[in-house]
Amino acid sequence: MLVVKFGGTSVGKPERMKKIAELVLSMPGKKIVVLSALSGTTNALVRIGDHLLAQQHTGAQNEIAELEKHYLQFSKELYSSEAYQAIGQEIVSRYFSLFRLLAAGKFDDRSYRELLAQGELVSTEFFYHHLQERKISSRLLPALHFMTIDENHEPELEKISERLKPILESVNVDILVTQGYICRNQNNEIDNLKRGGSDYTASLIGAAIRAEEIQIWTDIDGMHNNDPRIVKKTMPIAELTFDEASELAYFGAKILHPSTIVPAQKYGVPVRLKNTMDEKAPGTIISDKGSKHQFKAIAAKDGIIAINIKSSRMLLAYGFLRKVFEVFEKHKTSIDMISTSEVAVSVTIDDSTRLTEIVAELGKLGTIEVDKNQTIICIVGNALAEKEAVLQEVFSALGAIKIRMVSFGGSHNNISILVDTTQKDKALNLLNEGLFNLK
Ligand code: ADP
Ligand code: ASP
Ligand code: MG
Repeated sequence: MLVVKFGGTSVGKPERMKKIAELVLSMPGKKIVVLSALSGTTNALVRIGDHLLAQQHTGAQNEIAELEKHYLQFSKELYSSEAYQAIGQEIVSRYFSLFRLLAAGKFDDRSYRELLAQGELVSTEFFYHHLQERKISSRLLPALHFMTIDENHEPELEKISERLKPILESVNVDILVTQGYICRNQNNEIDNLKRGGSDYTASLIGAAIRAEEIQIWTDIDGMHNNDPRIVKKTMPIAELTFDEASELAYFGAKILHPSTIVPAQKYGVPVRLKNTMDEKAPGTIISDKGSKHQFKAIAAKDGIIAINIKSSRMLLAYGFLRKVFEVFEKHKTSIDMISTSEVAVSVTIDDSTRLTEIVAELGKLGTIEVDKNQTIICIVGNALAEKEAVLQEVFSALGAIKIRMVSFGGSHNNISILVDTTQKDKALNLLNEGLFNLK
């Protein structure tokens, strides 16, 4: 069985959605089709939710009306027959009545999450009825029936697998359509897998059913060697190992949700990245195989905070680092990079929710300095650490860029450097020239 996921831009226009139907139809065997919301929808729902939380009802109503216009037009162009035009209008009117109902009630975090989930619910309903209109046999598989997260917001892979098994055994159609991104939490409330989470849904389903392959269809021809939004000349990479792709996703390659690779890797299910706009392009295959000792790609993650703890008590003392780490553990904040000297330790975090409490507690251990607006640049390649003179190449490519921290040797596959975010674009371009000879 295949799991095929189509992102927002791949379903963002009626003609694209029609093209996807063709594409799915041309794929052999059974497949689970995971869809995102139409492009721009989740952003619009976030804006509506923010207005409502801030009690700005007019702002929310205007956004809802604007979005409704877009959906009515979309539906008009998607369906051909009168009967399906009516079905389309009914779908739109049902969802937008719900939005208005949510907007009129007491709007809290729970209603916010319910609102965010509607984008994927409506896109899958649109698509399913489009298949129906074309007499393509398919079934809707509600993600809210099987996709759950635990009290730490971690997906319950075993349970997801147990729930999917009987469903898959009992259906006799080749195309099952489900929602990306959305799930239920431990309180049985509607929740989500964080922004960009449809990739993660596809990988979780792929792992849960031990799929043959997970395909992520998007608007670019695979994983590129650098961020194409920042660097002009980038190139697609034909093959990546799970470890390489995992590091790139975690450290900011937006093409994949940060956790996408984890479930697929656990069960060795290959992940293929493909371009909906150019089906013939080879894309990227991510598996346990891959060449070694080469620079493969660079990614960057913004919003990093560096914390430096300086203490003469650290000198020759054991147990000091444990005390530092315990503070982060207590506040459920994970550390990305770390570097130490005899009297100081620097760590980076990307979640500032508990920063004040963390800094206050660390203050008991030494003098604290906090640098915000930092970026981790991650240079990835299978067994890159073993490549001769690898650091020399990286540093000479970076030239005069001011580096705040370096992490090397922890992973064989990556070299991470921390720079001020103002230096990011320049650093990515210099690395592109120096390591890939692209300019
Ligand atoms: P979708 O809506 O299909 O999930 P996304 O916008 O989330 O698509 O991801 C695709 C985008 O990721 C590309 O259009 C590209 O701009 C961006 N991107 C960032 N880094 C990379 C990279 N290293 N390789 C390919 N695309 C990247
Ligand atoms: N629609 C969600 C988002 O925009 C999930 C996704 O597209 O992957 O974040
Ligand atoms: Mg995405």
